[in-house]
Amino acid sequence: GRTPLIAGNWKMNLDHLQAVAFVQKLHWALKDAKHEDDSVEVAVFPPFTDLRTVQTLIDADKIPFAFGAQDLSTHDSGAYTGEISGAFLSKLQCGYVIIGHSERRQYHHETDEVVAAKVQAALRHGLVPVICVGETLEQREESGPTAVSVAQLEVALEGVPASADIVVAYEPVWAIGTGQVASPEQAQEVCAALRAVLADKLDADAAARTRILYGGSVKSSNVASFMREPDVDGALVGGASLVVDEFAAIIRYQK
Ligand code: 13P
Repeated sequence: GRTPLIAGNWKMNLDHLQAVAFVQKLHWALKDAKHEDDSVEVAVFPPFTDLRTVQTLIDADKIPFAFGAQDLSTHDSGAYTGEISGAFLSKLQCGYVIIGHSERRQYHHETDEVVAAKVQAALRHGLVPVICVGETLEQREESGPTAVSVAQLEVALEGVPASADIVVAYEPVWAIGTGQVASPEQAQEVCAALRAVLADKLDADAAARTRILYGGSVKSSNVASFMREPDVDGALVGGASLVVDEFAAIIRYQK
């Protein structure tokens, strides 16, 4: 079976001091509830400037959270002012890196080709890419629920070996930060189509083993309904991942 992954994308929130308090409080909240077994993997995605601090804390206190960055450069080193290499992230023991979030596609004009190059950069450095796909409302009305996400994932998987460790996140743009959550059936429909892409572009084993997350207005009150769907293996949480008790409740969705 696929281990569920509950991931918190902090976006541009929580500085490195706030990050320390947050990670400690989350750890305590889950410890008190005796939930720190291995049934759910927890991952946090702080801003770059927090990563060293979060890594040191997690390491020192043996906190069982994975962590990663929200983006990386397509390049490994050199004259790319302001960019962050995957080499730096893996040296900081990041396990994951989010790639192609709709906010980067929208505000930083990241194309499917840039996303594909970032996936290659992540894999070069032993990072698990969390490949984000999803359609806008106009695109859903124009071409249906699955076409955009399927096309985005097909390009992102160009040159990815079937053995690669990756995560896919379906985040409909119209559901991000809007409170307008997709229905579990809508999430399932697209996640199933994405799993078919994994089977087609990689192989049957990759499709069976790769986790596909739903993201977009996930809360403690709706997470269980998504997790009941057969092709939804976790959640990528924005706003609700910034509130300790709420994120802890999302992680404990089974209880
Ligand atoms: P919200 O949970 O705030 O809708 O954000 C989702 C998201 O973009 C996670 O990457």
